[in-house]
Amino acid sequence: MNEVAEGFVYFIGAGPGDPGLLTVRGQQILDHADLIIYDRLVSLQILQILPDETPKICAESLPGCHPERMEVLVDLMITNASKGLKVARLKGGDPLLFGRGSEEIEPLIAKNIAFEIVPGVTAALGASAYSGIPLTHREFSSAVAFITGHEKAGKPDSFLHWPEISKFPGTLVFYMGVKRAHVIQSNLLEQGMSPQTPVAIISEATLPQQKQATTVLGNLTNLVAQENFEPPAIIIIGPAAKYLGLWGWRNKLPLGNASVLISRPKGQGADFSAKLKNLGANVFQFDSMIIKSPDDWSSVDHEIKNLDSFDWLVFTSANGVEKFLQRFLQLGFDIRILLHLKIACIGPSTALALKLFHVYPDLIPPRHDAEGLIEALTPLVKGGKVLLARASEGRALLSQELSKICQVTDLHVYSQGPPSQEQIDNIKKMLSHTSMDYVAVTSSNSAKVLFESLGDLLTPGIFAGKTKVVAISQLTSEEVKNLGWGSSLSSVSFTTDGMIDEMIKDWSKEEA
Ligand code: SAH
Repeated sequence: MNEVAEGFVYFIGAGPGDPGLLTVRGQQILDHADLIIYDRLVSLQILQILPDETPKICAESLPGCHPERMEVLVDLMITNASKGLKVARLKGGDPLLFGRGSEEIEPLIAKNIAFEIVPGVTAALGASAYSGIPLTHREFSSAVAFITGHEKAGKPDSFLHWPEISKFPGTLVFYMGVKRAHVIQSNLLEQGMSPQTPVAIISEATLPQQKQATTVLGNLTNLVAQENFEPPAIIIIGPAAKYLGLWGWRNKLPLGNASVLISRPKGQGADFSAKLKNLGANVFQFDSMIIKSPDDWSSVDHEIKNLDSFDWLVFTSANGVEKFLQRFLQLGFDIRILLHLKIACIGPSTALALKLFHVYPDLIPPRHDAEGLIEALTPLVKGGKVLLARASEGRALLSQELSKICQVTDLHVYSQGPPSQEQIDNIKKMLSHTSMDYVAVTSSNSAKVLFESLGDLLTPGIFAGKTKVVAISQLTSEEVKNLGWGSSLSSVSFTTDGMIDEMIKDWSKEEA
């Protein structure tokens, strides 16, 4: 009898940290999972792109230690999959490389639970690409070995045979090795490997806080101590390691190696961050606000079914566009139903979100705020019916003013919430060992929330002139001053491109 439950468990490789390295398949599953169980190794940047509404559990927060915790974890997957849920088990790097993936999969087979494995970019490959170390090379390395540094040397059942490893004809990549660098160094030297063999260490590879250094085998332990390397890090040993830093193409870019922390509502500013990355910056993001779907969609559904009766559809944020139109499509409506409607967007980012649905706005006011929208709409909507699809926390001014001249339905398609404590704690940990060159705030509110959440760690750098605040407008700059952070660089064009221009100008002075 086929006893396969309707539920499913997906083992997904999250890659080494940069969310850009998550596979398309992995992302698709994560967007629609009912429960996400992730490892501590999964980066903050990946956690930030997971849907806010999906329940998430950190595997390391489950009770007990290995192996009891493993039992709890497996039970959790089995119970939820048996209920018919889609469980995404998100693991760092590749799920089957040094991640105890098989220990989690085998019990599912025993219970007839259906599963899928989605590979991920393993740490060695991420570190190799992002530090410019070719793991193979026609001149000197025709093979690569991925080795755990964690296994105790000399234990009777050890799988690590140091005599063979030391003679390996290629590049050695040690995972979980920083805390056991002395064991790796002494074993390889004892087996006759040259103390002059090149070595590279890369921690938090592919993340903006990636740290890297190179030395020779005889000095490996010293380097780990001197530079204070902490896990997660990998150690690359062999002639390839001397390539570290040689290619250095990133340093030559206009914002080469500048560290930028962007504070903006979740889901916004993706192109801002992509442009900064393209210019060579290390970009950190702080979600100053999270976005939640309505608990009850009935009023949204009602207005969607009633769209015939409206003349104008007005959007004041990219999130509003997404939430409204995704629901519209989910209900099975054809986009041509919008044909009779005039559509207004508050500004270019909102219009861009709309264009992703292949819909073009009829109106974008020259001034991108509620006042600008009211001014531009007033002559056009008199006596008509307007549907405002926006956040429940939207400014009252817009509906109040428009209601004076037309019939307005203020429809709440999402609500905004404060940043999670988990995110704040993760960024605090990162800020305790990485200093920022720029803090970019895209609104007064995102400046305020950043100040309240992370001010204690950012303020000393700002006062010392090491960290500069970059504001999107003069108004936001005023807010920064009111918060006590002093003067900031401010975009003259009210756009994130203007902020980038200010940073480039400033960074070229710093570099000079
Ligand atoms: N399944 C993972 C490995 C898990 S073992 C993978 O395929 O990458 C955990 C070890 O992986 C860490 O101790 C470290 O050695 C390595 N690691 C994971 N992410 C890393 C990163 N971003 N930078 C450097 N090393 C990393």
